[in-house]
Amino acid sequence: MKILLAKNAGYCFGVRDAVNMAYDTAKEHGDVYMLGHIVHNENVVDDLDKAGAKVVDSLDSVPDGRPVLLRAHGTHVDIVEEAKNKKMNIVDATCPLVRDIHDEIKTLEADGRKIIIIGDHGHDEVVGIASQVKDPIIVATADEATELRKTKRAGVVSQSTQTIENVQDIINILMSKVVDLRFINTICFPTKRNQEQIKELSKQCDVMFVIGSFTSANSKRLTDLSKERNSRSYQVTCASDIDEKWLDNCEIVGISAGASTPDNIIGEVLDKIKEIGNVQEEEIYA
Ligand code: SF4
Repeated sequence: MKILLAKNAGYCFGVRDAVNMAYDTAKEHGDVYMLGHIVHNENVVDDLDKAGAKVVDSLDSVPDGRPVLLRAHGTHVDIVEEAKNKKMNIVDATCPLVRDIHDEIKTLEADGRKIIIIGDHGHDEVVGIASQVKDPIIVATADEATELRKTKRAGVVSQSTQTIENVQDIINILMSKVVDLRFINTICFPTKRNQEQIKELSKQCDVMFVIGSFTSANSKRLTDLSKERNSRSYQVTCASDIDEKWLDNCEIVGISAGASTPDNIIGEVLDKIKEIGNVQEEEIYA
């Protein structure tokens, strides 16, 4: 059996930097507080908690003088303002590519356009993007786009981890509804690269594994893209999720992982598959 590991499987640079900042700040100050989970992965959250990076549900729960970390996927402007007004020690781990989306959407609004965000309702990144402007419309699917009223001028951005296909479907519908449509493609480059890799990799393998938490939208999207091309595609959260039977009659197994999956979990899954297939080395798929 041969194992092909997607070259960029796992943490994107934005999540990696944010997680490292959380560990470093906890080490320096003894603890650090985050409003919600820094990544959608239970193992990372547990490990960070042990290191002193705690999850709280409001700024009021942060003890006086302790640092508060703003997560990679951005924060509602009201919360940032509240933290500033309280003169809290803010450690800003917002990914620069999410910050770019905030800048783009404000420019579109200043240009007098109705704002449309292509993204998942209630997702933290989308909440943060939406908070940058007044009354944006959030559209998650093509069906929702068909429900929109016609409008003269609109500006559109997308959540960084959307699939190109979903965004294209929605933009096609918007073209028939908006006279003056300006679309800024804000799917981030790590997302585009990982999606392109899994589309090719899944076609070349007998079995595909996507490693990631079921709470991670990004991992789920990779799994969907893989399943569309390879019916023997499985999403696993860790090595113990793997059923050996899945690898029956398998010559090539492909592996990718969501942007919130840490290296050690990828390593454990690799080790388990190597053990099942009696493989020494994986090959990197670029
Ligand atoms: S998925 Fe993209 S935008 Fe989001 S944190 Fe990672 S690099 Fe940044």
